[in-house]
Amino acid sequence: MKNALVSLRKLEKKYPCHHAVRGIDLDIRAGEFIALMGPSGCGKSTTLRLIAGLEEPTSGEIFIAGRSMNGVPAFERDTPMVWQSLALFPFLSVMENVEFPLRMKKIGPIERKKRAMEWLDRMGLSAMAERNVAQLSGGQRQRVAIARALVTQPPILLLDEPLSALDAHLRVRMQTELSRLHKELGITFIYVTHAQSEAFALADRIMLMNGGTIQQSGRPQDVYREPENAFVAEFMGMNNIISGTVSGRSGEFAVIETPLGRFEVPGGRLGNSGPASFVVSADRISLAGEGSGATNRVHGSVIGIEFFGSTQTVFIDVAGHEFRVQKQQHEIDALDLQPGRDVHLNWQPAHAWVLPQAA
Ligand code: ADP
Ligand code: MG
Repeated sequence: MKNALVSLRKLEKKYPCHHAVRGIDLDIRAGEFIALMGPSGCGKSTTLRLIAGLEEPTSGEIFIAGRSMNGVPAFERDTPMVWQSLALFPFLSVMENVEFPLRMKKIGPIERKKRAMEWLDRMGLSAMAERNVAQLSGGQRQRVAIARALVTQPPILLLDEPLSALDAHLRVRMQTELSRLHKELGITFIYVTHAQSEAFALADRIMLMNGGTIQQSGRPQDVYREPENAFVAEFMGMNNIISGTVSGRSGEFAVIETPLGRFEVPGGRLGNSGPASFVVSADRISLAGEGSGATNRVHGSVIGIEFFGSTQTVFIDVAGHEFRVQKQQHEIDALDLQPGRDVHLNWQPAHAWVLPQAA
């Protein structure tokens, strides 16, 4: 990528007992909001710490603004990091905490106070400048940490699950605040989270990791609707994954034989034979009490139902394969679904997504 602010090249990190990052290549533009996602232990924090200079790569390289960061210590990188265990200085006041990075940069006391006060103002903390950080609530402490990270006007802010210690209500408010800051400051945010809702609310681009590698990167809606492999499909959505063998074509659709039956899927990237997997997201399946003439149909028996606010997820056993179907309450009222009851499922061929990397 031309003009990337941050570039990772074949980045590797091996700990004595664990190969945490396995060859990551990534370019991040100035001003982008990137979310690094993935299950616990997949290497998100390690990747972030490598960018911050808190860890040295085993091999590979990191460039910031075109300059190799090999051997450049954290304090020279201008990549402050905010994380859930905030690491504020407990014996210093709010003001002293925010001033601290400016003090490290040898900025004089008058300028220091002025800039710190601007940031306290901006974060709604000016009335608390003299308080000890131990006297603040979790949300206030989080704002102090953000003010302290941004007071030096760094080009990049690294955030490692910064909101995960906050309660749900506060988390949503802080999300809005982070989003506003990102827009106002125009700086690059690299944000680690395992919460899909956070990544979707905030990020321009999602990087989904597993086992130390990037599985897919792209706009949230693309990664969600067009997963590249079974791992991404499982992680990102309520997806049903079905595998089989291509047996021929039916117009623009390919026909796939599977243990659950014969289905038609968009034929675009498929030939006339060979293995194939496709996903049907849980909200794209229709339920009925009786069989239909639909091209893609199966039937099974209800395992159980879970409520998520106004939507419900129905779990259905189809010949030993568990389907998940998401519906609004009113869409399934008439079916009176109960565990053990027979139910018919169907979906349109165009609503299946063929996985580019057959799993
Ligand atoms: P994530 O943030 O995605 O949950 P991490 O990057 O923290 O994952 O860790 C990735 C893997 O590397 C984990 O298996 C973890 O146990 C291991 N790991 C992380 N830090 C160290 C370390 N300092 N020493 C040894 N192993 C580590
Ligand atoms: Mg982590």
